[in-house]
Amino acid sequence: MHFPAHCFAYFLLNYTLRDSSLGYHLPYMRSAIALAQRAFSADEVPVGAVVVLANKIIGRGYNRSMSQSDPTAHAEILALRQAAKRVGNYRLTLATLYCTLEPCAMCAGALVLARIKLLVYGARDTKAGAIDSHLNLLAAGFLNHRVEVISGVLAEESSALLKEFFRLKRKRKTF
Ligand SMILES: [Zn+2]
Repeated sequence: MHFPAHCFAYFLLNYTLRDSSLGYHLPYMRSAIALAQRAFSADEVPVGAVVVLANKIIGRGYNRSMSQSDPTAHAEILALRQAAKRVGNYRLTLATLYCTLEPCAMCAGALVLARIKLLVYGARDTKAGAIDSHLNLLAAGFLNHRVEVISGVLAEESSALLKEFFRLKRKRKTF
């Protein structure tokens, strides 16, 4: 196959832009993964999330449903609560939420309520994910706010942590 030179230049430009924006997101996703590791150590399902506004982390959370006996204590919810408290406003209009796992229906709803600008997530949650795996909630026509989405950032690291967690759980049950 043969492409004219300008097509190749266009491809290169797009590739570079995409690459540099991915580079911007990586440190924040690594912070979310570090939080997921803390959940792992606390024997909670290892999911972590951070909220970033103007290049600064303003909210952190990791899954604490079991230790707090709270079905809503997901990483995203805890990170959103901390961020909103810090800025003194429940609307986080220009903020980005990074999460190691595709958010569930509850967390997707919370992202809309918080008017989050961008969601960046790692691994897909084929069981309960409400962004791409099921529902496609953020693209629902009845909602009056659109959250942009970037998926698959450091997905393998996030899903490896989850796989290891559930492998250990199963092993413990067996013995
Ligand atoms: Zn959730």
